[in-house]
Amino acid sequence: MRTAPTILHLDMDAFYASAEQAAKPSLRGKPVVVGGLGPRGVVATASYEARRFGVHSAMPMAQARRLAPNAAYLVPRFSLYRAVSEQVMELLATLSPLVEPLSLDEAFVDLEAGGSADDSASAQAAGERLRADIRRVTGLTGSVGLAGSKMLAKIASEQAKPDGLLLIEPGTERELLGPLSVRTLPGVGPATGEHLRRAGMTTVADLAEAGEDELVRLVGKAHGTALHHMALGHDDRPVVAERDAKSVSVEDTFDVDLHDRVRVRGEVERLAERCVHRLRAAGRSGRTVVLKVRRFDFSTLTRSETLRGPTDDPAVVREAAARLLESVDTTGGVRLLGVGVSGLADYTQEDLFAQAAAGEHEGEAGAAGPGVAEASAAPQGRNEAAEPKPEPEPPAERRWLAGHDVRHARYGAGWVQGSGLGRVTVRFEEPWSQPGRVRTFAVDDPELTPAEPLPLLRPSSPEPGTPPRDGLPGQPGAGCGAKTPCQSS
Ligand SMILES: [Mg+2]
Repeated sequence: MRTAPTILHLDMDAFYASAEQAAKPSLRGKPVVVGGLGPRGVVATASYEARRFGVHSAMPMAQARRLAPNAAYLVPRFSLYRAVSEQVMELLATLSPLVEPLSLDEAFVDLEAGGSADDSASAQAAGERLRADIRRVTGLTGSVGLAGSKMLAKIASEQAKPDGLLLIEPGTERELLGPLSVRTLPGVGPATGEHLRRAGMTTVADLAEAGEDELVRLVGKAHGTALHHMALGHDDRPVVAERDAKSVSVEDTFDVDLHDRVRVRGEVERLAERCVHRLRAAGRSGRTVVLKVRRFDFSTLTRSETLRGPTDDPAVVREAAARLLESVDTTGGVRLLGVGVSGLADYTQEDLFAQAAAGEHEGEAGAAGPGVAEASAAPQGRNEAAEPKPEPEPPAERRWLAGHDVRHARYGAGWVQGSGLGRVTVRFEEPWSQPGRVRTFAVDDPELTPAEPLPLLRPSSPEPGTPPRDGLPGQPGAGCGAKTPCQSS
């Protein structure tokens, strides 16, 4: 444990829901629930307004609808979240080379390793600066925890939420942890929590007082010892940057579910190749191939196969991933696919240098992580978010997903508020406009087309004094210039 609170944990506040509220002026201050809207869908993120009704992530969507019938229910827009995540991760990278992303919106940063803080005052300043930068660059808020260990930094950011910063001075850990619920500690789920409660332990202080022997007797050797360490605030785990991870994995989230089995197989094959590319670039090989599939309803499955020896052979990884896919039902649609290799072994040095060049461009992996489920049991390390790919045109009734962007030839940019019975309702507003009005169209209205998400902040207008861009013939803005002022529309 270090003596200065230089481990930072950042967690964006209600990330997907906040991004949707930032994008959709009519939803600001209102309950918003983002997740799978199918029959078996679960909540990915609820806005703070929706949480007041008891809605929380991983809850079945049907239950959320009963609790908050008037909330806006939206299908996630991962391409937007990825873009914001990249901006956030870029800011973190300026603080330290040791950044450990946990998901699209959460990461540990070792400030000391980056030379950006070495005591409480400098850590606090770095944390506040980061929060201000995130707000300026993304328009969203994030909470920051600072402590001498990862466990405490994460607990601190949780306590700081929303839109706050909490620094735990090394030496005060036990004081802070004592009154908190045992469930605050990592690895203490509902079952362990209930087990401990029946033994009369509800707070972290209860655990610390019970002592190691008693905890080992209650929950077993490995878990009991770990629990006791955590209750005392002991945690020596280092912040691990991607290059030092114990596994290598890549994954892609699709804005529109994949239904075609052939397409799914093709994507898995491609991911296997990319994964091996990165494995080789890192000079590693691995024994266990992992396939991750998130289905249309946000249920996430992982399947793994352990080979006889470590491999970095693309054909071997590809074939193992294909075999794993055979055991997964994808008929309802697939939202995310991932392929990983774990159980890593190091190469000999020669191999490393021979392969490094081949994999170089893959080495600059995005810092993004798994899309949604904190509950996802993926044994993967860091993940790479990839570029969104062009999707084949889906049938009309599947095109109008609640919350997704559209453009109407006459009314401009908007988003789908709902669809059904051959109609689609669109609210016409932009992230920087006033709340807009709603119009209804036939689902096959030729003037209505799906669109890409707009950025959350209005793209900045050119600096004063910058010469106006010459519009090309046939493009918007053609003829706009000093002599022919643009028509505002
Ligand atoms: Mg978050």
